[in-house]
Amino acid sequence: MTHPTGTLDALHNGSMTIGIVIVAAGRGERAGSPGDGPKQYRRIGGQPVIRRTLDTFLRWPNRGPIVVVIHPDDEALFAEAVEGLEGADTVTTTFGGATRQRSVHEGLRALSVTDATHVMIHDAARPFADHALLDRIAQSLAEGHEGLLPAMPVTDTLKRGGSNGLVHETVPRTSLYAAQTPQSFLLAAIRSAHDKAAALRRDDFTDDASIAEWAGMPVHLVEGSVDNIKLTVQRDLAMADEKLSQNRQALLPDVRTGNGYDVHQLVPGDGVTLCGVFIPHDQKLSGHSDADVALHALTDALLATCGAGDIGDHFPPTDMQWRGAPSRIFLEHAAKIVRERGGTIMNADITLIAEAPKISPHRETMRETLSSILGISIDRCSVKATTNETIGFVGRREGIAAIATATVVYSGGAA
Ligand code: MG
Repeated sequence: MTHPTGTLDALHNGSMTIGIVIVAAGRGERAGSPGDGPKQYRRIGGQPVIRRTLDTFLRWPNRGPIVVVIHPDDEALFAEAVEGLEGADTVTTTFGGATRQRSVHEGLRALSVTDATHVMIHDAARPFADHALLDRIAQSLAEGHEGLLPAMPVTDTLKRGGSNGLVHETVPRTSLYAAQTPQSFLLAAIRSAHDKAAALRRDDFTDDASIAEWAGMPVHLVEGSVDNIKLTVQRDLAMADEKLSQNRQALLPDVRTGNGYDVHQLVPGDGVTLCGVFIPHDQKLSGHSDADVALHALTDALLATCGAGDIGDHFPPTDMQWRGAPSRIFLEHAAKIVRERGGTIMNADITLIAEAPKISPHRETMRETLSSILGISIDRCSVKATTNETIGFVGRREGIAAIATATVVYSGGAA
């Protein structure tokens, strides 16, 4: 395996230009049902595979002209896939042939009219080639190698099977490599090898290194990339999609919203506790604890942001120790769970639905209470109230309801 150490001076002083041929004319029949379309146009991480592949080369500072070989039926698909992609308007497209080999040949023909001296031939279905890999190959080309094959040593134990379904032998894997792309060459040399193969009607080569070998060109191995996999079957596409989606999710702020709802019955009494504030009244709320519907709803909303169940799971009504308990301990407990799981409480909002007593005179005290229980600033705590226009159980003063919303931002390690 060659280990390039040189610089890219030849590229930078203009004595070599690396053209790119991206082969995208295949039908991709192994990757799903016929109706799904060619795999290079299927989406992973929200983007067509070919858009991602092309973008890698468009952004590579050492690239020369780019030719994409497409199937004649795919013109509209290709245009749609690269719409709005920066630099896509500089790309030449040409139509491929019935085999990969013929498609590459068409791509080489199209590249031959440009100033390219070298070529990287890449499969559209390998969207994870990275610039470090391309730089390694470019350096080896700059050192004068005529043909380069990026490859990874085979790590699986290899077996040769017999036609009877039995293992025939174990194949030593020393010096065995799995071939990747972009396979890269002196343009004139690989073009001539392809011309020769076409003239002799040899069209059974599955990659360009094998044509080069057949034509007697030396092909050097260069270290490939573990990530540079070819998406071949449906499962490859699904796994790539999942990986990219996870990466994207990891880059976004982990903002979560929870809601809660609670009702308690009103019975004759001397006052109600709402948002931790006692308000004298000719009724009281009936319940196991102090029956503070507002704090109960908010407790549920906070627990919901990390999927931690509801207030009944943490404080079963059957447990005598919560009898008459001030509900602030429930809310404090929920806030503690949220924080233990990496959450930062951003905002708490409660709407009380009650015909009486009047909430507005107590609203600021309620917000201060929430602020102190949750340990967040008062502008992040909201209390609102509405009546139920005298209809329903709330309207008949049979109960008070509350709904609550909490927003929590989680950092890494959240449940
Ligand atoms: Mg309750």
